[in-house]
Amino acid sequence: AAPLLDVRHLSLDFTSPRGRIHALRDISMTVPRGRIVGVVGESGSGKSTLAYAVIRLLAENARVVGGEIVMDGRDLLTLSPREMRGIRGRRMSMIFQDPMTSLNRVMSIGQQMIDIQYRDPISKAEKRKRAVEALRRVGIPDPEDRVNGYPHQFSGGMRQRICIAMAMMVEPALLLADEPTTALDATTEVQIIGLLERLQAEIGCSILFVSHHLGTVAELCHDVVVLYAGEVVEQGSVRDIFHNPGHPYTQALLDCDPGRIKEKTRRLPTIPGVVPSLVGDQVPTGCIFKTRCPHAFDRCDHEVPPSYAVVSGEVAPDAPHTARCHLRDAAEERRP
Ligand code: ATP
Ligand code: SF4
Ligand code: MG
Repeated sequence: AAPLLDVRHLSLDFTSPRGRIHALRDISMTVPRGRIVGVVGESGSGKSTLAYAVIRLLAENARVVGGEIVMDGRDLLTLSPREMRGIRGRRMSMIFQDPMTSLNRVMSIGQQMIDIQYRDPISKAEKRKRAVEALRRVGIPDPEDRVNGYPHQFSGGMRQRICIAMAMMVEPALLLADEPTTALDATTEVQIIGLLERLQAEIGCSILFVSHHLGTVAELCHDVVVLYAGEVVEQGSVRDIFHNPGHPYTQALLDCDPGRIKEKTRRLPTIPGVVPSLVGDQVPTGCIFKTRCPHAFDRCDHEVPPSYAVVSGEVAPDAPHTARCHLRDAAEERRP
């Protein structure tokens, strides 16, 4: 079956006084139906930009310079703003690191939840009832009462639950989540992850989950996309990525994390070396990871590695395991 979301060769620049920032370069990745796909990478690797490009909420200075974002057989990049509004909040919704991004501080929770149902031809009382049910579903205590509350009357974790309730009320096909638990304490994070897991299973939607936290991704996601300096360097199922990483960057991330996929690491581990500049013509030739790669050789300097299939134990037709590293070339040649 065709994936729900198919990003093909997406390239995106930001204009800036320093020159063009080539924030995403030749990104190809998919979100299969009913699966949770984690997007991991260091700060500045382009995780948020990718999510915002999909829902078309990019900053003014963003320019898509190539590629397609296909959902339901249509390239979202070709839709008019009006058509896109019809998809946002219906086929697709988003939650953010800071719940206040999507909450209005001077309006009651109930009113906001009634407002997002503006398309539905039902009475206000009915919409209110739905709002109460949605709050109950995400674990807000006394929802009949709390529906009248304002955002500041809730804790950070409760506000994120409210945002999840609002995003899920429309039963979207795709939920985008940009580090929704990064600002929360560890206990609340575990609860929110559990909630997303349960709702995803109930609704059957797909989730694109942006995260710094390898442990969370291993826990929640089915598949992983590893971004490095604006490029996808590796993707595959959680099992393949964590047990048989095919790219030196992914290997480094897992190696310098002593607990590996355990709960302790809240951030991505740091890897020695300098991240390349993405401004103007300073983007290095050849492999984007060459400045930090312990295995770099001649070819890496001038030839961009293509996406190689990584041969591993698991057969995951929905999530083929690929890595963009020249070392895979030699490795795959040795296949029987
Ligand atoms: P973080 O983990 O810190 O959230 P990220 O992986 O989400 O990082 P992005 O925010 O997508 O990274 O940024 C990718 C690149 O694009 C960075 O180099 C960033 O500085 C640049 N960038 C993002 N938004 C803009 C903008 N509006 N104008 C100029 N550059 C931008
Ligand atoms: Fe390292 Fe070369 Fe592979 Fe890039 S292509 S990750 S520099 S070995
Ligand atoms: Mg971000």
